[in-house]
Amino acid sequence: MTELLLQVENLKKHFPINGGIFGKKVGEVKAVDGVSFYVKKGETLGIVGESGCGKSTTGRLLLRLLDPTEGKVTFENKDVTTLSKEELRKVRREMQMIFQDPFASLNPRHTVEKILEEPLIVHGIGTKEERKRRVREMLEVVGLSSYHAKRYPHQFSGGQRQRIGIARSLMTNPKLIIADEPVSALDVSIQSQVLNLLEDLQKEYDLTYVFIAHDLGVVRHISDRVGVMYLGRLIELTDSEKLYEKPLHPYTQALLNAVPIPDPDFKREEIEISGEIPSPSNPPAGCAFHTRCRECMDICKTTRPEFKEIEPNHFVACHLYE
Ligand code: SF4
Repeated sequence: MTELLLQVENLKKHFPINGGIFGKKVGEVKAVDGVSFYVKKGETLGIVGESGCGKSTTGRLLLRLLDPTEGKVTFENKDVTTLSKEELRKVRREMQMIFQDPFASLNPRHTVEKILEEPLIVHGIGTKEERKRRVREMLEVVGLSSYHAKRYPHQFSGGQRQRIGIARSLMTNPKLIIADEPVSALDVSIQSQVLNLLEDLQKEYDLTYVFIAHDLGVVRHISDRVGVMYLGRLIELTDSEKLYEKPLHPYTQALLNAVPIPDPDFKREEIEISGEIPSPSNPPAGCAFHTRCRECMDICKTTRPEFKEIEPNHFVACHLYE
């Protein structure tokens, strides 16, 4: 089996809801509620779901930008969830994040050079000269020019800003990149350019990606495997090809139905998801999807289906397959 780079076991993040005059805890939002998966070295794992499903919180937990309520994240045999501040700082050199909104994640008062140099300074890498050389090199690598180094973020287009965000994530030569909706804020015409760039960089620098998106169409071409999340849990996870050709979970089937097909002769069964996504502070009993599922059975309303491997490499949480 290919070497595992990242292993996630029963990861949970519950945010307290405080209320009343004394600000006491009156409930909790189970943003991530028992997620387990692994990521192999060199692969791209896509994580997909509607907003509020916990996919971005999961991304932040992997880097410990948030502390988990429970569970374990192992990166190269180190448990990220228990590392000291100093150990965490060292590990973060190897794990970087690309954010959805490149404008919000780039300091508007700093030049591109300063923005890109910062991770090197934080990790004590290189001399001043070496750092400047690396900034120029990385700008060229992501399709910008070294003369852009002296400009400020507002002087760039959305696509160029995301290229700066990508360059920043690569400055420390990481092994793992968590890309949180990296193309969602971009025009469709720019999206494929940025996706192609990410694919080229993966080959060139031997990168491993966790690619978070709300649209199955976006992750299709870039992902080797795809996991679908619903209300804080994974409900299906398998090879990309299998997921798109033979989705098993009714929620995945409905999500795929919304993805346009380029072949006009291909007819797909119409499946719609009815109703809104329930609140993660008050998820439905049993299968969390039962309030919107057209296949719902009695057992679905009371008993939560286990997330099980029902055929090699194909995990599903649904009573239809038990
Ligand atoms: Fe639908 Fe039941 Fe499967 Fe949930 S467990 S997805 S409600 S069939």
